Amino acid sequence: MLYEPNYLVKALAYRSQARLLFVENTELVKAVCPRPMNDMLKIALGRTVSAASLLTGTLKDHQRISLKIKTGQKDGKIFADADAWGNVRGYLSDELRNAPPAYLRHLSLEQLIGSKGSLQMTKDIGMQGTFTGITDMPYGNIVDDLSHYFRQSEQTPTFFSLPIDIGASGDIVRSRGVLAQLLPGAPTELIDRIKNDLRTSKVEDMQVVGKEPIRLFCGCSKEVLFPMLHALDKEELKDAHAAGRPIEIVCHICGNAYAFQPDEFASISETL
Ligand SMILES: [Zn+2]
Repeated sequence: MLYEPNYLVKALAYRSQARLLFVENTELVKAVCPRPMNDMLKIALGRTVSAASLLTGTLKDHQRISLKIKTGQKDGKIFADADAWGNVRGYLSDELRNAPPAYLRHLSLEQLIGSKGSLQMTKDIGMQGTFTGITDMPYGNIVDDLSHYFRQSEQTPTFFSLPIDIGASGDIVRSRGVLAQLLPGAPTELIDRIKNDLRTSKVEDMQVVGKEPIRLFCGCSKEVLFPMLHALDKEELKDAHAAGRPIEIVCHICGNAYAFQPDEFASISETL
């Protein structure tokens, strides 16, 4: 079998009253977090991306899901989205990406999210449209706030575990995730039992129903990034055009760089 570093395992347990999803996404989370990056932000972005990685397992056909966390401090945002094929991506808004390291160093995740933090989830279910829910974040740690979201917004008892280990050098050494969700008709209190059983790895009657690869996929292209040329300094564009020098645009979501040749941005620089 081909080696897949990032994958999702789907299972049913407790006489098919609950679904369990397990994800191994160390490489994916590593790739999502640019360096250098504050450790607390790595955890925040990593957990959000792990949640999106797990939620791919709840999607069908052409469905997509996106998560948006709005932080009370800095008015920052943390984004992650995923589709049913296992394509996952995640990124931070400019406010967080450009926040001074000295400011972030003394800030905990709970402080960053604060009392005004919110968690929004949008599920695109194709022809039937989209469903958006939004809740507050009383726990301020993303993990328990996700369970809170499902309880409040979808009335579906759900439990998340999203451990991320950061090594002494500041690198992410491990990222995994578990999602347990009750299926219709299951008694609500079963979720607490599952939570305890997962801690002791004694899950009852578990049947693995699938194992699927997941991957970091942005979907960006030269066409998508072309409009960003308009935002560049006009003198810079003129100079590059005159000198016959290509201009590089880096996708802030995945870090891919695209080089635009002078003839490709001539239409913009000539109108300046
Ligand atoms: Zn990209």
